[in-house]
Amino acid sequence: MKNNAPQTIFLKDYTPSDFLVESAELQFTLDPKETLVDTKLWIKRNPAATTNDKSLMLDGVNLDLQAIQIDGTPLATNNYQTTPENLTIFQVPDNFVLETQVKIHPDKNFTLSGLYLSNNIFCTQNEPHGFRHITYFIDRPDILTKFTATIIADKTKYPVLLSNGNLIATSDLSNNLHSTTWQDPFPKSAYLFALVAGNLGQIEDHYTTTSGRKVTLRIFTETRQLDQCHHAMASLKQAMAWEEQTFGLEYDLDIYQIVAINDFNFGAMENKSLNIFNSSCLLASPSTATDADFNRVTSVVAHEYFHNWTGNRATCRDWFQIGLKEGLTSVREQLFMEEVHGYPINRINSIKLMRTKQFAEDSGPLSHPIRLQSYIEVNNFYTVTIYEKGAEVARMLATIFGKATFQHTMQEFLTKFDGQAVTIEDFLQTAESITKTDLTQFKLWYDQAGTPTLTITDEFANNIYTLKIKQKLDNTKKELHIPLSIGLVSTNGENTQTETLIINQTEQTFPFPNFTSKPTPSLLRGFSAPIKIEHKYSDEELVLLMCHDQDPINAWDASQQLMTNIALRLVENFDAKQTFTLPQTLAQACKTVISNNKFDPALAAQMLQLPTESYLHEASQKIDIEAIHAVSEFMKVELAKALKYELLEAYQNSCAARPYDLSAVSIGKRSLKNLCLYYLMHLNTPEVFDVCLQQLEQADNLTDTLAALAALSNSTYPQREHILESYYPRWQEQPNLVDKWLALNATIKLPGTLQRVQKLIQYPAFNIKNPNNVYALVRTFCENNHVNFHDVTGAGYKFLADQVLTIDKFNPQLAARIVTPLTQGSNLDPKRQQLLQGQLIRINQESKPSKNVYEIVNKAIN
Ligand SMILES: [Zn+2]
Repeated sequence: MKNNAPQTIFLKDYTPSDFLVESAELQFTLDPKETLVDTKLWIKRNPAATTNDKSLMLDGVNLDLQAIQIDGTPLATNNYQTTPENLTIFQVPDNFVLETQVKIHPDKNFTLSGLYLSNNIFCTQNEPHGFRHITYFIDRPDILTKFTATIIADKTKYPVLLSNGNLIATSDLSNNLHSTTWQDPFPKSAYLFALVAGNLGQIEDHYTTTSGRKVTLRIFTETRQLDQCHHAMASLKQAMAWEEQTFGLEYDLDIYQIVAINDFNFGAMENKSLNIFNSSCLLASPSTATDADFNRVTSVVAHEYFHNWTGNRATCRDWFQIGLKEGLTSVREQLFMEEVHGYPINRINSIKLMRTKQFAEDSGPLSHPIRLQSYIEVNNFYTVTIYEKGAEVARMLATIFGKATFQHTMQEFLTKFDGQAVTIEDFLQTAESITKTDLTQFKLWYDQAGTPTLTITDEFANNIYTLKIKQKLDNTKKELHIPLSIGLVSTNGENTQTETLIINQTEQTFPFPNFTSKPTPSLLRGFSAPIKIEHKYSDEELVLLMCHDQDPINAWDASQQLMTNIALRLVENFDAKQTFTLPQTLAQACKTVISNNKFDPALAAQMLQLPTESYLHEASQKIDIEAIHAVSEFMKVELAKALKYELLEAYQNSCAARPYDLSAVSIGKRSLKNLCLYYLMHLNTPEVFDVCLQQLEQADNLTDTLAALAALSNSTYPQREHILESYYPRWQEQPNLVDKWLALNATIKLPGTLQRVQKLIQYPAFNIKNPNNVYALVRTFCENNHVNFHDVTGAGYKFLADQVLTIDKFNPQLAARIVTPLTQGSNLDPKRQQLLQGQLIRINQESKPSKNVYEIVNKAIN
């Protein structure tokens, strides 16, 4: 550690603010170079204050203070003090009005936090600490304030002026200026304040709530992209209806607006009644979005809408509680997607994310509990643990106590804590009083980091089948309260004993009498807890579960376990330099899945998909990059050879799904068809190339185009480079398509992709200041193209460190979000570990890193 290390903030140090801000009137005179912010704050002493300190310290980063007065009287300069991060006013009364005027410079703000410009559109991002870049304020989530905002700007350049709440005034001013005033009747944290000004088009719709409130819904974006907003609008209405039906929660204002912009660090932001979205999570049309993109738009629109209750009406007391607002929101997003848009597929997507990303985070140096105990930069903790594990833990309450009780708990919690800034304890105490259960042990899920593992053995004697379940613990961990949903599948395929076992001790035994032969256990059905299971299955048992488990999630999981087990055995053969063959069992089981109409095409496609290399890494004790890649490619070729006839037949059958539509049936057929094409293209024969080229030529949607183009780009087809290149000019006008094209380039498994990516960084297609471009090219390459990123020379690691160093100078959040692959080396070979460490040390030493990058890099340096 250096002695100028940034300060660590601890949960245990929380104290209430000495002052409250009851209401705020803001006036923005917008100009890209120099925006004036006039702020009027009604401040009073907090009755809950724990000190008698008469001085008031406000947050404000790099603000240029022009004027300051209290109760109408300008302050003498010896009555206050400014630093680059604060304004302190000495001796303030218990009740007063503070007025300040500051200058800010949106055109120089590339952090994408605070007020900035994206394609000449003014926009804000204030979670968690953006507001202090706009004006002086007590910028913490437990300060709940009623905001009124007046926006003044040039009428021609910025015809649309938006903020939170209701529009209460508009006027035309001299010099071609105009103004609007918005008032939000709900007190809210400053991180939920939003402002947008620009030349935007809009679509409008309406929604009437159960109690009869007519809500105007608007989505804004650049006019040329308006035709891509309709899916988001339909998704919003579905989410509003679902939440009323499921949780009895209605929308609370007469207007709900969403704006899409191109430069945004996150996916989207839930500002009260004025969501701001990364355009990649909002815009979708058949020619610019894949089926997966449409699904993502639906889920993000729903997620941000659900925040209106969990996050906005009941907010966080402090940033250590983000896992509460994100967990309670993400769990509703999960349930909505599963109930309205397809259970197995959306559940499988969540499980894959947990297993590849969250488990990896939990086993790396950045492992943290859902409720943080400390942080240097809270921006670093908008992680898969906070969102996905937070959702899984809330979901377990529904599994343990039933869905109705869970709904009741949510309603009770939101009634009791409406308009308050709350903690995880507040939520759990509500759950305790509703369920009349002591949740002390369950609370450990929020405070204990790491992925719990259950070791499960079984035996069969005297017609009794017994499961013996052990929690694998080290001395830093305590036993958790785990709902383990199971079933038992007999050799004839019959499913019995469907139930949820409660695991809350180190070791427990569950006997099941009256079996005439030993059944196969189907464990952790539906992924009933965010844990790992260790149980030795034979290949035959997994095939039985694949074909007969009545739980579709576990049927899928059995296929993934079978493929993983086989892959890891082949990796051992590879390391021992033995020749290897693919077991017949796998090809046979895949044949059954593909030819048997029992399986829905969408599920069949998931079951036939080989686990990704990331998934195999996570399942390996020691990661052998080359062996896993070689085995993975080998398995695809062998499966393609063994199933050639079935794959072609399934491909042809699924092609009948025309014309294009977005029904679940069509999406399922497309996913199976494209999986078949993916396998077949591993054969690299002229016959298959023709099929692929034909699909590329005839595709009427991006899913089919992209699948064919990706397969072709990774094949030996002689014209592949030329074809891939030809798509850039076709796609360059659509930001989402440019990102697809960059990501396609970044995922090519053939040698030389690092050089390709380095070349693309110089291309006009790539703008390093745009997070979507960085995610599409840099992050996709480093996180998904293992064989090239982990090149044994360390060139991939150096490349990523170079990007982090460059980006950290203007956007620390973005730099911190892409650095992760450099920190996840603990299961790699010593040579690679050393190379990774070398780059981490270099980042730390070459220039003074931001707090964001400093915190992550220093945790990862041994
Ligand atoms: Zn969220």
